[in-house]
Amino acid sequence: MNEKRVKVAVLGLGIMGSGMAGQLIAKGFDVTVWNRNRVKAQPLGQSGASIAASPAKAADGADFVVAMVADDDASKRVWLGDEGAFAGMRAGAIAVDCSTLSVDWVHTLSAAAAERGIDFIDAPVTGTKPQAAAGTLRFFAGGDPAVLAKAEGLFLAMGTELIRLGPVGNGAMLKLINNFLCGVQVASLAEALVMIERSGLDVQQAVGALAAGAPGSPLVKMLAGRMLAHDYRPNFVPALMAKDLHYASVAFAEQGITLATADAARARFEAVAADFPDSDMAAVIEPIRAIRGVNR
Ligand code: NAP
Repeated sequence: MNEKRVKVAVLGLGIMGSGMAGQLIAKGFDVTVWNRNRVKAQPLGQSGASIAASPAKAADGADFVVAMVADDDASKRVWLGDEGAFAGMRAGAIAVDCSTLSVDWVHTLSAAAAERGIDFIDAPVTGTKPQAAAGTLRFFAGGDPAVLAKAEGLFLAMGTELIRLGPVGNGAMLKLINNFLCGVQVASLAEALVMIERSGLDVQQAVGALAAGAPGSPLVKMLAGRMLAHDYRPNFVPALMAKDLHYASVAFAEQGITLATADAARARFEAVAADFPDSDMAAVIEPIRAIRGVNR
């Protein structure tokens, strides 16, 4: 029997979106992709995806439209306007934004979807390049429970867990809290490693002792290895972490909370984004390594 394949449009084929689209193709979905820079769509075309000329064309006839783009501006560009996905979506299709966005923009986008009779899910992810490529992401989802139930199979094709957090906006909120904690850890790790490198301590022994103790989170363990190996092949570029810390600061400020630690970490990521724009965020250590000590 020929079952009708579920049609999915994927908008944004960067580090994460290309892995997610690849998983959907591998799991038998009927996938159409769009990317601003069309060259990035070619490998997915060779893997079986159709390539669309605009988000609206990609969304035409889709059951689900998934966006995975850099930030609020990119999200606006892919959903709204004459060429945007909402213009091409049919009634009953579900819009999913997996990008890390500001909470305010997610609410605006959800309202714009509702005006058009489109259901919307806010579903940022945890996991990075290898997890996107392997289909082992975790989704922080905000949305109507009935809509989330319809989309569960889609999420479990790209990941291992759909964490239902309540209404739209709650996914973005938890993701920004998550990346606030991650960004501060990575920036403080970079400062600590430079101190270890200069202190006369045995670097491997010192880092091993820290990693085995209380500071040894999975993130600290992974990034310490990359920083010590100078391995900056990109999983997550520093400009995106700076963006997330900015969105987190804005969200916390609405509750009167000044994110002093996030603002300091953000300055570290902005500094490295200028010199190492295409490197992994692990390169945040390099400008600190370049600082001269007063006694040396
Ligand atoms: P990336 O590799 O830098 O890709 C960014 C994507 O956004 C590309 O497809 C890019 O298109 C597109 N884009 C940027 N500006 C645009 C615009 N104005 N209009 C249309 N498209 C635009 O980023 P990524 O690592 O895949 O991250 C994507 C999202 O996932 C971000 O929100 C990020 O914060 C989040 N995230 C990333 C990770 C990670 O580890 N990488 C983990 C969790 C969440 P072009 O190719 O044409 O530039």
